[in-house]
Amino acid sequence: MDHFLYRDGELYAEDVPVADIAAAVGTPFYLYSTATLTRHYQLFDEALNGMEHMVCYAMKAASNQAILKTLADLGAGMDVVSGGEYARAKAAGVPGDRIVFSGVGKTRPEIKAALEGGIRQFNVESEPELAVISEVAASLGKIAPITIRVNPDVDAKTHAKIATGKSENKFGIPISKARAVYAEAASLPGIDVIGIDVHIGSQLTELDPYELAYQKVAELTEQLRADGHNIRRLDLGGGLGIPYTRTNQAPPLPSDYGALIKRTVGHLGCEIEIEPGRLIAGNAGILVSRVIYVKQGEGRQFLILDGAMNDLIRPAMYDAHHDIVPILEPAPGVEHQPYDVVGPVCESGDTFAKNRMMPPLRAGDLVAFRSAGAYGAVMASEYNTRPLVPEVLAKGDQFAVIRARPDFDEIINRDTIPPWL
Ligand SMILES: *Cc1c(COP(=O)(O)O)cnc(C)c1O
Repeated sequence: MDHFLYRDGELYAEDVPVADIAAAVGTPFYLYSTATLTRHYQLFDEALNGMEHMVCYAMKAASNQAILKTLADLGAGMDVVSGGEYARAKAAGVPGDRIVFSGVGKTRPEIKAALEGGIRQFNVESEPELAVISEVAASLGKIAPITIRVNPDVDAKTHAKIATGKSENKFGIPISKARAVYAEAASLPGIDVIGIDVHIGSQLTELDPYELAYQKVAELTEQLRADGHNIRRLDLGGGLGIPYTRTNQAPPLPSDYGALIKRTVGHLGCEIEIEPGRLIAGNAGILVSRVIYVKQGEGRQFLILDGAMNDLIRPAMYDAHHDIVPILEPAPGVEHQPYDVVGPVCESGDTFAKNRMMPPLRAGDLVAFRSAGAYGAVMASEYNTRPLVPEVLAKGDQFAVIRARPDFDEIINRDTIPPWL
């Protein structure tokens, strides 16, 4: 359930008519619901009830500081994958000891900044990275808490671009090499080995891959403990999928996922971390756009919107489906017709949907892309010198612009023409 529902014939975000926000902000824009973000965080938090745990929101899914603060105020930690995300989490008020640093290519400056600003743990992805963290920590006279991300060679059964747990993926170290790498880690200065990390992919719609991966993590925990390591924290990653259509069979619930965690690793007595991103933010956000033209093509009708692939790249990048609904609720029984839904960008890839059955729409009408809260605004660009799409947060009967639309001058003035030109 989300909080974007029709009421009195029009779409609301919580208690605010979406059309009122469009009138105030202009289109296109992303719109998030505080109640949905809160609900999703709490589902995970409750799913891990009875175990010492922290839900570390994978902020790459949607990283506006207002979203981070909403979640952090509920008790969430953050999973960051860059120095920029680390700085952003800190700016939103998240303390360092609630920030986990993931990612395959952490640089020396990023590692230094995190050690100086405070960090819950680094999830280490390679031996060279381990050596650099040790070196930087030792030079600062600090101890870096680390887990090592193991690659369990499990098929997450998701889109190839978001599968991360197979041996051919660049992530983590092969689980078969783990004992040797842990032995090396334990011998290095400035390193405190505290646990194990695993993350097998995104938009997982079945629990089996998790079960396989977590069983391997449980076995590894026991082996590493027998080797003398004090394994006390398991970071189990994120990746639980969301329903992108209303008709699809729904993916497993956070409660099922929590039960699986208890079943597979609960007996180990470790503190549990999870890193959900998409499930928290995905259905907590919509992209609102306006129809510019309805164009009659040969044998097809194009719905040309003011939102484009630079604002929402998921259909072009992952062949993703988004439900697209009119802001005015269609009359019951109204006949639907097929549209090719496109943006104005000069690429044929700027196509959101082909042959999508929708109620009749006209120039000026507003539509919403559902399930656009995760990997939407964060992946937006200014391609075609289109201003970075704004973001709005609704809460009850209030809303606020949480990232304003830049004007053309702001965009253009970022360029510098050299004096010799
Ligand atoms: C992207 C990512 C996540 C979040 O994945 P979702 O599918 O958004 O839940 C968690 N952990 C790591 C290391 C990631 O790279």
